[in-house]
Amino acid sequence: MKRMVFLIVMMLFSSAGVLAASEDAHWDYDGQEGPEHWGTLAEKFDMCIKGENQSPIDLVADLDADLPELVFEYNNPGSLVEENTGHAIQENVKPGNYVIFMGKRFELKQFHFHSPSEHTVNGKTFPMEVHLVHQNDESDYFVVGLLFKAGSHNKIMDQLPSFKKSRGEDPLSNPIDYNDLITESNDYFLYNGSLTTPPCTEGVRWIVLKQPIIASSEQIQHYHDLLGFDNNRPIQPHNSRIILE
Ligand SMILES: [Zn+2]
Repeated sequence: MKRMVFLIVMMLFSSAGVLAASEDAHWDYDGQEGPEHWGTLAEKFDMCIKGENQSPIDLVADLDADLPELVFEYNNPGSLVEENTGHAIQENVKPGNYVIFMGKRFELKQFHFHSPSEHTVNGKTFPMEVHLVHQNDESDYFVVGLLFKAGSHNKIMDQLPSFKKSRGEDPLSNPIDYNDLITESNDYFLYNGSLTTPPCTEGVRWIVLKQPIIASSEQIQHYHDLLGFDNNRPIQPHNSRIILE
């Protein structure tokens, strides 16, 4: 009887172990766990290989539409919690910052950087891209992408904890105004896509602003050095999607 109980306990633990392993399936940006293998690393990463509406894409507009205004209501400047996820440096934002799109409100949850850019515009790659990840109460994703161009120093990047530390400054001073992330022009591309990292969930509404934001080459290089590798998923096929501008 004792042996039987032992076996049952072992079985429970080993199946829990398998479950945990697939929940936290490891993935990477190159090699055996790189983007072309994501869809086979875990069952729940299926969409990475089977999805028809994957991101990122090359942004070439199919249709010049009269698009609704994207309204930023980033009204709660504040501190953030920085985290190196192993795949990007991510800034987790406190509640109270929204975008309004077609009468719907999506809350800014976090933003993170990719270098080089994930989206391209007419085949052109940019040195960096930031993803402002929003969700509504139904947990629908609404992501705003901004592309970077090298130029003068970027004020908000200087305020991020890992950038400040490298400059010998206290990372906790000054609340960050998220409006400083946004460009003056709200002209954008709009399409239907996915998360660009496993599990590559679809149904993500993507907006990529046309006007790039500026950061210095040193800041862009600093981000890349901090992470230590390229974290951009390759361009995915458009399939039957229409890109609006
Ligand atoms: Zn991203």
